[in-house]
Amino acid sequence: MLRLYNTLSRSVEDFKSIKPLSVGLYSCGPTVYDNQHIGHIKRYIGDDVLVKVLKANGYNVKHVMNITDVGHLVSDEDTGEDKMEKGAKKYGMSVWDIAKKFEKQFWDSIDAVGITRPTEIMHATDYIPDQIALVKILEEKGYTYEIPGDGIYFDTSKFPTYFALSRQNPEELKKGARVDFIEGKRNVADFALWKFSFTSKGEPRRQMEWWFGGPLEGKLSTSENWNQVPTEFREKVGFPGWHIECSAMSLRALTDFFSANLPYVQSYLTPQVKNLQTIDIHTGGIDHIAIHHTNEIAQSEAATGEKFVNYWVHHNFLIVDGEKMSKSLGNFYTVQDVVAKGYDPLALRYLILQTHYRQEMNFTWESLDAAQTALERLRSVILNESEGSLVHDHTWMKKFMEALNDDLNTAKALSVMWEMVKDQDLLPGEIQGTLLEMDKILGLNLKLNPKSQIPNLKIPEEVQSLISEREAFRKAGDFGAADEIRNKIADLGFTVEDKLEGPVITKK
Ligand code: AMP
Ligand code: ZN
Repeated sequence: MLRLYNTLSRSVEDFKSIKPLSVGLYSCGPTVYDNQHIGHIKRYIGDDVLVKVLKANGYNVKHVMNITDVGHLVSDEDTGEDKMEKGAKKYGMSVWDIAKKFEKQFWDSIDAVGITRPTEIMHATDYIPDQIALVKILEEKGYTYEIPGDGIYFDTSKFPTYFALSRQNPEELKKGARVDFIEGKRNVADFALWKFSFTSKGEPRRQMEWWFGGPLEGKLSTSENWNQVPTEFREKVGFPGWHIECSAMSLRALTDFFSANLPYVQSYLTPQVKNLQTIDIHTGGIDHIAIHHTNEIAQSEAATGEKFVNYWVHHNFLIVDGEKMSKSLGNFYTVQDVVAKGYDPLALRYLILQTHYRQEMNFTWESLDAAQTALERLRSVILNESEGSLVHDHTWMKKFMEALNDDLNTAKALSVMWEMVKDQDLLPGEIQGTLLEMDKILGLNLKLNPKSQIPNLKIPEEVQSLISEREAFRKAGDFGAADEIRNKIADLGFTVEDKLEGPVITKK
């Protein structure tokens, strides 16, 4: 039986799915306005372990992730610059191209660290009509108010359990950091569901804005269609608040809410949708608890009248050399940086698995060195000639699963794995078989034999040693010397390509 820590109850609970042997899981995905660093990736490795452990427990998992490609303001509040527009300015590209560029970097990183991609990937810009529908349902039900020239806001005083997830004290909040600096906001925690673009006031048009109301509702507003819509609808042209996308897309993908509610405004109270509007698990970073997830719960539960999510899973941060990883401190590394320094990206995965997901993880290059060595040792166990057939040992597998079922204790699972590798009572084929079975969850690709990536390709010794020499230079950051060796390798008739999973050698 899987036990999971639920932020809602602040305790480890037995996991029970709503439908037998089937789990709906929603992960808040990245805002694709810049490179995703290894701190972000830690969080998705945590989700990947959760998915793989659920599957090992016999569940069929529908894993949904959003890509935020619109409307996430820098401050997490409802003021400040839009992250996408900021990224576009920085790189001199359109917001649409920025989204494409950094989504690719995200998936490249995800693939490199052995994460299984989600079952369904939803882009916020593809679900604007659903987000508008949800705002309209909340308007109909009396949970909203409008601040002219600003946006449509959720009135948190109408939702009595607003602080259930964050357990914040509203009085403390008033004194604290979340200052109510938007004129017209009724309560300090109120948040925007829809922001107006101010285009009617002659301010510059945004690159991403949509019609809200009118014949083109939910469609992009462009200069071509601007005059086709009656004037009264122009004031509400705008973009969704950050939180509404996750409510809309998770309810769309994992519940019957939308299919049972369209046309939404007229029939949203139909009784047959009762109890089909709750999601099993929702995940995010710990910083999502106080604002983003709290707001998602308020919006969704106010709209559906049902519990939104049964289990809330939150991942702790990655810090680097004792400080939080951030660009301004210059301690910001991507998976691509890790690879450029000559490490296997799966060594990063191994390192991340050594820390429980609810604990802060301190990243150092020395610890990555150690993780790479451990990974190579495990691979050598698999590579050694085995006597007898590969079978897995049930007693060790049981211990391993017990560790993972205890709130995803990957650190304990790794130590069980090493104990098993050293078990003198096991035959080599049993050790290898058990290791490979464990690797189905650990995702370290232990079968990988760097020398046999290209089957039937005989690499001469001279080339082999040049490749190793070049890797050493790359690891030391001496790319000039590495390039010189690449040329020598080319002279000998071979091409080296630096893929995220390591150097790949082909014959010219
Ligand atoms: P950002 O787009 O940089 O604000 O980050 C998006 C999300 O990634 C945050 O809300 C966090 O949940 C997560 N995240 C950012 N930095 C880290 C970090 N250093 N360690 C773990 N997760 C992080
Ligand atoms: Zn979200």
